[in-house]
Amino acid sequence: MLSTMSAGGCLSIQEKIRIAEEIHSRWGRTLRANARIAQLISTLQQKLARSQEAMLACGLVEMCRICEEEDGGSCCGKGIEDKFCPTLLLINLLMGQPLPVKPLRNDSCYFLGPQGCRLLVRQVICVNYVCQRVQQQMPKDHLIRLQTVIGEELDTVFMLQEAIKRIVETSSLCTSI
Ligand code: SF4
Ligand code: SF4
Repeated sequence: MLSTMSAGGCLSIQEKIRIAEEIHSRWGRTLRANARIAQLISTLQQKLARSQEAMLACGLVEMCRICEEEDGGSCCGKGIEDKFCPTLLLINLLMGQPLPVKPLRNDSCYFLGPQGCRLLVRQVICVNYVCQRVQQQMPKDHLIRLQTVIGEELDTVFMLQEAIKRIVETSSLCTSI
């Protein structure tokens, strides 16, 4: 049945979440038992921790908190959730991160919660984007350090997606993050 479903692009986020959960329930144990997948998940946990550390150290976490709580809203806009594909949502599930059953607000991204993003593994646009204000206020060496660790995180996510797709052959999984 999964192989008859169309690729992620034109599906609603609720439908993509349903697909990811269905694949997780059928393939989760097999995927976690695969040595390559297990190693990539472990590497990704380390890369995510390093990204989080770098975002805290350079002040990005605080700048974005002020933006969201005091300056009228972050850049987590409505519609960004549509960039996600089932593979990336599946990776969140494999790493123990449940997927939200509904949006908190109708005017923001489906995944935005009271304390920021409710996902562990995010789209390239979410991870890579720094607004003009951040670019102007953050020292260049901090920006470079941030981009380096984020690049390593994204490379690992890409490798994990490819490894998953080699095991789970289904057209429900798209090719990009
Ligand atoms: S990146 Fe810029 S616009 Fe987005 S939440 Fe942070 S400070 Fe706000
Ligand atoms: S960081 Fe999270 S809440 Fe923000 S746009 Fe990306 S997925 Fe949505």
